[in-house]
Amino acid sequence: MNHPIETITSPSNALIKSLKSLERKKGRSETGLFLAEGARLVEQGLEQGWKAETLVIASTMADRPHLAALANRASAAGTRVVQAPERLMSKITHKDNAQSVIASFHQAHRSLAALESERDGIWIALYEVRDPGNLGTILRTADCAGAKGVILLETCCDPYSFETVRASMGSIFDMPFANASFEQFNAWRQAGQMSLTAASVNGTVRHDQAPFGPRAVIIMGNEQAGLPEPIEAACDTLALIPMRGGADSLNLAQATAIMTYEAWRQRNFQ
Ligand code: SAM
Repeated sequence: MNHPIETITSPSNALIKSLKSLERKKGRSETGLFLAEGARLVEQGLEQGWKAETLVIASTMADRPHLAALANRASAAGTRVVQAPERLMSKITHKDNAQSVIASFHQAHRSLAALESERDGIWIALYEVRDPGNLGTILRTADCAGAKGVILLETCCDPYSFETVRASMGSIFDMPFANASFEQFNAWRQAGQMSLTAASVNGTVRHDQAPFGPRAVIIMGNEQAGLPEPIEAACDTLALIPMRGGADSLNLAQATAIMTYEAWRQRNFQ
């Protein structure tokens, strides 16, 4: 049965203001929410069991069968569902990404201990990743390559920013990630007998010769400064992806993809 949908028309409506505030880190931190824009992304979130606080659908689109079904599904799960004219939607969505469906979801903050206890597989650790687009792309790559999880070390950019969520193409909902200090992470991976392979421009082993092993963590450095020397010293292997030409390094997300797919290739893509 279709539920009647609440309609909002005023730009000064408190809900519009509160959704707009999620554009900024402050708004996301204060509410513990983040925005997902687009019907497909919102569906992915709901399918993966993430709890949506509010779903907003453009008034002109609310009768479309798949959006009406989405509204019913969200409403049944306890989400507040509203419709709003496009002029209000455009106050919340990004101008380069005008969408007729937007939802605010509750953020998940996992600790290392809450990640999969089965350590076999490929894990990715990112030291102080700062570019939201890189982080979203890496979550997507990790998801595609079947990585077990992504660990955000020390001070990283916000995984729930619009840019990261968009670049992840839905993998924000699929790929488990946790924040940790390097010290906590290193104790966790040592206790789990996991190898630690750094991708580094100081690498001494070619990346396709690196012995990742059955429990493998690939650690990637910050976009500007790479990995600090003490972290490189704590690694089992420093792997270099060959380069020729004038650039001094690859882009972080591209280097992560090359490393992750090499580790997966060594497992015969199983
Ligand atoms: N100037 C930085 C440095 O000295 O490491 C460059 C950082 S690079 C943009 C970001 C990260 O991507 C590096 O810390 C490393 O983890 C990885 N990376 C980039 N190019 C690489 C390469 N050719 N071999 C191995 N890792 C690479």
